[in-house]
Amino acid sequence: MLELTNLALGSGQPAYRGQQIFDAVYRQKIERLDQVSTLPLEYRARLAEQGWGVGFPTIARKFISSDGTVRYLVEMADGETVETVWMPDGDGGESGDGSEAGDEIESDRVVEGLRPAARGQAPSPHVSWRRATICVSSQVGCAVNCKFCFTALLGVKRNLEAGEIVGQIAAVLRAQGVEPPLQRVNIVFMGMGEPFLNYDNFMKSVRLLAEGVGIPESRMTVSTAGIVPRIHDFGQEPMRPKLAISLNGSNDALRSEVMPLNRKWNLGELMKAAREFPLRARERLTFEYVLLADVNDAPEQAREVVELVRGIRAKINLIALNPGTELPYRTPEQDRVLAFQRILVAAGIPTFVRRPRGRDIFAACGQLKRTVEIAPATSLSAPLD
Ligand code: SAH
Repeated sequence: MLELTNLALGSGQPAYRGQQIFDAVYRQKIERLDQVSTLPLEYRARLAEQGWGVGFPTIARKFISSDGTVRYLVEMADGETVETVWMPDGDGGESGDGSEAGDEIESDRVVEGLRPAARGQAPSPHVSWRRATICVSSQVGCAVNCKFCFTALLGVKRNLEAGEIVGQIAAVLRAQGVEPPLQRVNIVFMGMGEPFLNYDNFMKSVRLLAEGVGIPESRMTVSTAGIVPRIHDFGQEPMRPKLAISLNGSNDALRSEVMPLNRKWNLGELMKAAREFPLRARERLTFEYVLLADVNDAPEQAREVVELVRGIRAKINLIALNPGTELPYRTPEQDRVLAFQRILVAAGIPTFVRRPRGRDIFAACGQLKRTVEIAPATSLSAPLD
């Protein structure tokens, strides 16, 4: 908002023009600068000359899972694409609103009115939802190189602007016919990219979402692979989402093998940052742990995790590896996952097994990779009109 005010002032316009632009974009959802009728014609033309524009990113493709999850391929103005995932019933782990997840007992209360409004779109087979979650990307590709993650195979192409992060959400909300704050939506910054390597734009998008789109930061969760200095910075933010940290290894040797980033910031530094992280009342820090069969899923490794998180008000989300053909790891059997969970729970750590969402359309954790680079579209893909 301040930036828009400064933009207006910089062109010799009154300060309130900043607010007018903000309202045009976020309230009126105008998609062309020349249609922002609250601004004088000359100023509209001037902004256009300076290269400014308003509007939504384009949804280039969408893929619908049998579980109701929708994976969108979202195209930015320069043609770069990222993936954004709509999960009508939450993501089974990080709803960002304080509700627990995984194999929790779900309330059978379906709030009427929380239905995606029909907007001339084909009726969805899943017409009602309790707590939809949007999983948003922060970068085109990713530079972190985790050995079990598909996105890593892309490398990083560029950071997304704050407006592009918000744009993904705005585009998906519009496609779903959903309007916060009337309907409750959670945001997880867990798509492509490492949000803490695009920290300023990520934080700016948080503020825009809260002020412009009407999604409070208490319904947002950001996940980091463990960029330690930014964990410190994030703890100082006056307004911030909840924090999740991808742990994925129970000791340094193991974690460095699956997440080479651990050689830069090892478990000692990471857990120190986690321990010092200023949690709010009733807030818990989330640790995510991707279980890789016969690599990090043994009972003794669960016991190492217990020692690591001792003393931290934490919860753990276990994610059985979502498979990908180019990955050198296997998904553990369910009883192995449950045995791992039991050890953590017995130690008093709330631990949830995340339901995989949208595996059949490659929308699950770690499976996001620009569609154009994966196999050709399957029968599940629906080209948009
Ligand atoms: N870069 C951030 C945000 C991505 S979050 C981070 O690493 O935290 C994506 C989550 O999915 C991370 O917790 C990651 O560990 C997990 N993940 C990555 N690849 C996966 C896979 N193949 N199967 C299951 N989970 C995976």
